[in-house]
Amino acid sequence: MSPTLAQWGRTSELPPLEARILLCHVLQATPTWVMAHGEVTLDETSKRRLDALAERRRRGEPIAYLVGEKEFWDMMFKVTPDVLIPRPDTETLVETALRYIPAEREARVLDLGTGTGAIAIAIARERPFAKIWATDVSATALRLAEENATRLLRQDAARIVWRLSDWFAAIPVPQQDSERFSVIVSNPPYIAATDAHLDEGDVRFEPRGALVGGASGWEMLQIIAQQAPAYLRQGGVLLMECGYDQGDVTRALLRDAGFTQCETVNDLAGVPRVTLGRFSA
Ligand code: GLN
Repeated sequence: MSPTLAQWGRTSELPPLEARILLCHVLQATPTWVMAHGEVTLDETSKRRLDALAERRRRGEPIAYLVGEKEFWDMMFKVTPDVLIPRPDTETLVETALRYIPAEREARVLDLGTGTGAIAIAIARERPFAKIWATDVSATALRLAEENATRLLRQDAARIVWRLSDWFAAIPVPQQDSERFSVIVSNPPYIAATDAHLDEGDVRFEPRGALVGGASGWEMLQIIAQQAPAYLRQGGVLLMECGYDQGDVTRALLRDAGFTQCETVNDLAGVPRVTLGRFSA
């Protein structure tokens, strides 16, 4: 006989929260409904689908890839194994960037390596006058980001321009001040190629290109810091997510590239996470 929802959760060998996410996904129900209906018996088809998903989870696949979505900045983003899964830590990058983007007049913003589009879309939602450019080197990622924007922002999605680009490569160097960016943001890959963390947990299933920033880990942080000045207006700000132990090196990279007022901001867990600097020629 088929188990009840509660029994299935217990026998799945998954943490209760994960079992509930899979139940919500397969039954197309809210967490509240699932919690209130533990005594309901599962139908055969749902049970088979749940068992298959639980097995994949036990083998290590991230929950977000199994259910195809992940929440970020109070919005549900579609995710696939082609893109990094948005992390709560990255909300610190959005929050910090918002300090430098005016709420009531136009500003040009560039998001490099947008992945799901989470950062660009969150900024677009919070800043109705921002004109945003978002790049990715993966055409698949870019299509997914665009799809997320259309669903989450509707007609406002038109304020984001999507560009297939290896960092700045396909962005023309602005010739006049009106074309320069006020803010450039990026959550680039910043893990060192030899970091043991890459062989553990969810990251094993994420695209290496979205995680590994060369041998040192900070090669992409350096490329972006060096190229950003050509694209920033006077007083413009570059903000990059970095590793918990990369605050010092990232500030040094920014200073070497001519940035001033460099600082590192901690995430909600108190861990150094975002490094920024101001550009003045
Ligand atoms: N914060 C992610 C992790 O540690 C890495 C994301 C990135 O490289 N941009 O798994």
